[in-house]
Amino acid sequence: KTDVIEAGKQVLKKLEEAGYSAYFVGGYVRDTLLGRPVHDLDIATSARPEEVMVLFSRTVPTGLQHGTVTVLEGGVPLEVTTFRTESGYKDHRRPDEVRFVATIEEDLARRDFTVNAMALDLRGRVVDPFGGQKDLQNRIIRAVGAPQERFAEDALRMLRCIRFASQLGFAIDRTTYEAVRELVEDIRYVAVERINAEWNKALASRYPDRAVMDVLETGLARVMPGLNVLLSGKQEWSETERERLREVNGLAARWSYLFLVCGREADVESVLRALRSEKKLIKSCRQMIDLVEMLRLPEAEERSERWLLEYGWDALSNAASLYEIIYQAAGVTARLARTYDAMQVKTLQELAVSGAELQQVLGRKGGPWIRAMLLRLSLDVNKGEVPNERHALLLQARKVIDEYT
Ligand code: ATP
Ligand code: MG
Repeated sequence: KTDVIEAGKQVLKKLEEAGYSAYFVGGYVRDTLLGRPVHDLDIATSARPEEVMVLFSRTVPTGLQHGTVTVLEGGVPLEVTTFRTESGYKDHRRPDEVRFVATIEEDLARRDFTVNAMALDLRGRVVDPFGGQKDLQNRIIRAVGAPQERFAEDALRMLRCIRFASQLGFAIDRTTYEAVRELVEDIRYVAVERINAEWNKALASRYPDRAVMDVLETGLARVMPGLNVLLSGKQEWSETERERLREVNGLAARWSYLFLVCGREADVESVLRALRSEKKLIKSCRQMIDLVEMLRLPEAEERSERWLLEYGWDALSNAASLYEIIYQAAGVTARLARTYDAMQVKTLQELAVSGAELQQVLGRKGGPWIRAMLLRLSLDVNKGEVPNERHALLLQARKVIDEYT
């Protein structure tokens, strides 16, 4: 990340040398002042987009209508945005008008929370017109200006304040929180993808349980797509249930925890689809929930080797970790690891014969029997009944088929 920061400083320097003012803004300033790791870097400048494009040799006009140009500095892409104000917001989500302004202070005034409305220049001077540093110190998320107006402009900010509180472990200022309660219905105006992105950040954060409590308490949960169904199954959360959610690692596992704890009435597919979640997330949640339920079966232990071959170490061990947290069972993952270690063939790919070969040599049409056979052969190798050699495996396959026909 140091090269990103160095590249950012270069950009500020070039802008200043050309007579413009330029600052680091947003999350970078907040996280730097907090001593947290920074991930992206935003730059604000008095230079107009055309001027930025003239000044730097490699640029991409990413969002000219919003004043954003991406500058490639030493191979690092950096977003440079002209100081601007926004006004209008008749649709509660986007400004009707964007206007370029002369000063950083005017630009900071359009930002959502005081801790996000600071700027940092090349010399380390902080521009902080709304008391962001004080709020950082007191660990408070507070809207810039009148919260009701700010949430009426862009309803997503309601969810953003909950997201930042859960990431940073901050409290939400009373007036700001009250305004969320009053305006929750407005979240309907916001694009589902934006809601989903903020919610997933909150769920993946250090205090995901805080986000769950906050959307329930404010009533946002009732009007958020998907969550309206999922969380309605569980309004009351015990301290233990909250603690366990914090212990769960990974986004898919946390979603799965919500499904398992909130009750199975909420269908995974429809909840996650309502939020336009990625197919990959839907798939891993569905699988993880199924695997957790399978691990509850009395025959789980004797089947674990087969499941490891079928689902793989990652999927099964992740499910096992979740299972341990939900059912307060120790040693499930450790047992699985011992089984896995002892397996000579750990995945179907490690078998010395492939599905295509089986099909060809045995002269049969393709179908689910191939996978079943590969599984059976792997288990036989691991039991020591056949060596993991092509010829021996093909003979064994022939024998198995003859047994069944
Ligand atoms: P993250 O660490 O998640 O990137 P961030 O503070 O950088 O946090 P971004 O969503 O990347 O958040 O936005 C960058 C900055 O733009 C914010 O810090 C804030 O100043 C401003 N901003 C972003 N979204 C909004 C919004 N909906 N309303 C007002 N200001 C916003
Ligand atoms: Mg950011």
